[in-house]
Amino acid sequence: MKPSAFDYVRPLSLDEAMEQLAIDPFESKVLSGGQSLIPMMNFRLARPERLIDINRVPGLEGIVPGQDRVTIGARTRHLAVQNTGLQGPLGSLLRTAAAQVGHLPIRTRGTFGGSIAHCDAASEWCLVARLLDAEMTVRSTRGERTIPAADFFQAIFTTAMEPDEILTSISLPALDDHHVTGIAEFARRAGDFAIVAATAAVKIEDGVVTRARVCLGGVSEVPWRSQAAESALLGSAWSAGAVAEAAAAAADEVDPPSDSHGDADYRRDLVRALLPRALNTAGAGS
Ligand SMILES: Cc1cc2nc3c(=O)[nH]c(=O)nc-3n(C[C@H](O)[C@H](O)[C@H](O)COP(=O)(O)OP(=O)(O)OC[C@H]3O[C@@H](n4cnc5c(N)ncnc54)[C@H](O)[C@@H]3O)c2cc1C
Repeated sequence: MKPSAFDYVRPLSLDEAMEQLAIDPFESKVLSGGQSLIPMMNFRLARPERLIDINRVPGLEGIVPGQDRVTIGARTRHLAVQNTGLQGPLGSLLRTAAAQVGHLPIRTRGTFGGSIAHCDAASEWCLVARLLDAEMTVRSTRGERTIPAADFFQAIFTTAMEPDEILTSISLPALDDHHVTGIAEFARRAGDFAIVAATAAVKIEDGVVTRARVCLGGVSEVPWRSQAAESALLGSAWSAGAVAEAAAAAADEVDPPSDSHGDADYRRDLVRALLPRALNTAGAGS
């Protein structure tokens, strides 16, 4: 199918983009990489009357490391994240996650911020953002605000952004070298969205876990921070056994959906298997 008719504008500045979006926000959509929006329009699952193409707006791309936080421009392509030279546990997590986003053509065009604005619970970037308590900066003609990840992801394909707001950047904590990070996922075909994905960032000092973050995808409508897994890890001596216990706690905690890709028990089994893989302790004994 082809999309229904729409008007197309290609602003050359953020101010112009915000003004264009403010004209008719409920009938307009921001176009970034187009890797989710255009298929949805072709299937007529989305019928915006106006597209505001932000691809010529300056200042929305790039990864900027700071003292405590790293800022990623919303229009930064998945491939640029995959190729980032950012050092340390955060750089490693970003590269590993990016490599699992779709296929090369999708990574070439699709964007970090587009994924987050789209809000698919299995998207790697939504998981990483929720894992690391990212802060999303959004702008409109009414001003700028920053939304923490805990409030941002509200339901499937639903965020806390208002229709007239443009996501401009996402900030993540710069993780120090005491952190171990990783992401592991299972999909039936390479490049598909994960049926279940697990990502974690664990801080280890003198062999003891002093901070634990665990986030799961494919088990609920939005990325799921597993408090059970985080509590199990916190204060424990770092070991494969501790990670396996945390994975079991996470699997008991979640209440996943059943659908054609897998039932709830299957997804719980995947949680149990994937968290140790994310932290590279699978098969390492206890
Ligand atoms: C075959 C296929 C496989 C894929 N596999 C994966 C996968 O494994 N993992 C994964 O994470 N993704 C996957 N994707 C989706 C891909 O990552 C998209 O790039 C991403 O979901 C959306 O980013 P985009 O820049 O293309 O956004 P667009 O398609 O341009 O926009 C998506 C939505 O976000 C809104 N939006 C975009 N940018 C902004 C902004 N700056 N401010 C406000 N709203 C905005 C749009 O209005 C629209 O509603 C796949 C896509 C395809 C076609």
